[in-house]
Amino acid sequence: MPAVRHLGLCHRGAMTLPASSRELTDDEWQLVELARATIDANTDADPDQDGVHTMGAAVFAADGRMFSGVNLYHFTGGPCAELVALAAARACGARDIKTVGNHGRGPVGPCGRDRQVLFDYYSGIRVILPTEHGVRSVLITDLMPLAALWTVDGGTQPFDPALFTHH
Ligand SMILES: [Zn+2]
Repeated sequence: MPAVRHLGLCHRGAMTLPASSRELTDDEWQLVELARATIDANTDADPDQDGVHTMGAAVFAADGRMFSGVNLYHFTGGPCAELVALAAARACGARDIKTVGNHGRGPVGPCGRDRQVLFDYYSGIRVILPTEHGVRSVLITDLMPLAALWTVDGGTQPFDPALFTHH
């Protein structure tokens, strides 16, 4: 039987943060606080219990307004809090979203689906998430390396390096 070889490299040093990573502004901390307050006020579960509303998220519109949402868990794929917050902003007339905050059990990074939606809708958006160096704000493009943009009109687009150059 062939020996199983360990091919992974174990780097125990600090992870390199994306180039766009930076500490949160006071405004972004407000967003995190809104997400936390929203889920704390509206969850159906105590800490360490399961529930269907367990995560909150908040977004900044470009005009400075903040909108929040909670997740709608369902086995058929109910939306995460990030997507609900985006829709709430849209419903109130916000057309340009700047930042997404994410909270619940402390800041949690968006799942893969949310990353794709954020990238496709707002490719210049910043996302607040925990890192090895604490809570940071990073551009969505740094969370979706080599991603192909999907658009309503054209579907999945050819890879566009220009999307990944803004910081
Ligand atoms: Zn999600």
